[in-house]
Amino acid sequence: MKKSSFFFFLFFFIQISVAQTTYLLCGSLIDTKSGELHSKKTILIKADTIVKIFDGYVLPKIKTATIIDLKDKVVMPGLIDMHVHIEQEFNRKTQLNRYTLNEADVAFNSVGFAKMTLLNGFTTVRDLGGTGVNISIKKAIQAGKIVGPRVFTAGKSIATTGGHADPTNGSSRKLIGNPGPKEGVVNSVEDAKKAVRQRYKNGADCIKITATGGVLSVAKSGDNPQFTLEEVKAICDTAKDYGMHVAAHAHGDEGMQRAIIGGVKTIEHGTYMSSETMELMKKYNAFLVPTITAGKEVAEKATINGFYPDIVVPKALAVGPQIQETFAKAYKKGVGISFGTDAGVFKHGQNGKEFGFMVAAGMPAMETIQSATITNAMLLQMEQKIGQIQKGFFADIIAVDEDPTKNISTMENVVFVMKEGIVYKK
Ligand SMILES: [Zn+2]
Repeated sequence: MKKSSFFFFLFFFIQISVAQTTYLLCGSLIDTKSGELHSKKTILIKADTIVKIFDGYVLPKIKTATIIDLKDKVVMPGLIDMHVHIEQEFNRKTQLNRYTLNEADVAFNSVGFAKMTLLNGFTTVRDLGGTGVNISIKKAIQAGKIVGPRVFTAGKSIATTGGHADPTNGSSRKLIGNPGPKEGVVNSVEDAKKAVRQRYKNGADCIKITATGGVLSVAKSGDNPQFTLEEVKAICDTAKDYGMHVAAHAHGDEGMQRAIIGGVKTIEHGTYMSSETMELMKKYNAFLVPTITAGKEVAEKATINGFYPDIVVPKALAVGPQIQETFAKAYKKGVGISFGTDAGVFKHGQNGKEFGFMVAAGMPAMETIQSATITNAMLLQMEQKIGQIQKGFFADIIAVDEDPTKNISTMENVVFVMKEGIVYKK
């Protein structure tokens, strides 16, 4: 090697090995742990990690450091949505897509969805079901090949035959087949264990079951119980052995109760949750993921002729408007609330609307933000790394124009996004 090229490599090596240092000057900073808003703080970031928080504005002594001026913004940790479908965005053709799209088509579509999610302030999401392409999306984001939030995914949801996540619902008899545990359709305790283990092997981080009927599946009931208690237990016990938690889609009360007693960590939607079941949620320390935005969306879209298959319309009209009302009761009763929207049922990137709906239902603005940060970080067992702006945490940081406790709609307009120290929106 020539002497000059040796020095060039040495120079290049030093350049990439010195971690980028950033000083973030924050007009206001939300402490999600205490629920307080502090003014004038400086966050020091090295590479992907927060290393210090100073009182007041502090400027770097080294020339190579970057200064980001957010003195007229309200800064907070990156948001966490516990219920998205990163692979899809519902439209008129969704039912047909199953027969016309290849996995590569699904993957290319999802690139835009992931980007929209991140650019709107959601630096972490839990993906609750798709075809399995979601596992590849997660890896591609992790490897820096595409832009998106940190993804925890359930891979393909687990259902029973004809259940909400049976992938061949509504197909002609020629195509209906007999999907088994590998495809996420179970009909016994043995199947249930197999399906969970298969998901672990496929690379899922958590398990999603469809404990009751659902709105958008091509099936009659939107709320019937679809698993036996024994099947739910087998799923939760197996998932626990493999280090995964279980999320249960549930609209009807009976299926919800079986899911809670069976050991699931979160109830998604919770539409017809009775007072008795709310008590059960508290007793078993299960959390409600409200998805009010999705409820509003399906109720609205159901009024457009032909948007959904005929069988879906009455379910959407009944379930949609009920979700926010039940959320209000559950919150008042002291049920733990985990922020989640069901993005994919509506347009990705509009996840921030959920904050306004939660506040309208009686949850104070600061608590909605805590739900989307510290609560969800805890449920993902990431409470030492995300959900707070603290020393040693990932530099997942966002900013909005206004104080959300005074105007919650500011959460729909995130103006600055940093994930693991890299700025994606400014
Ligand atoms: Zn969903």
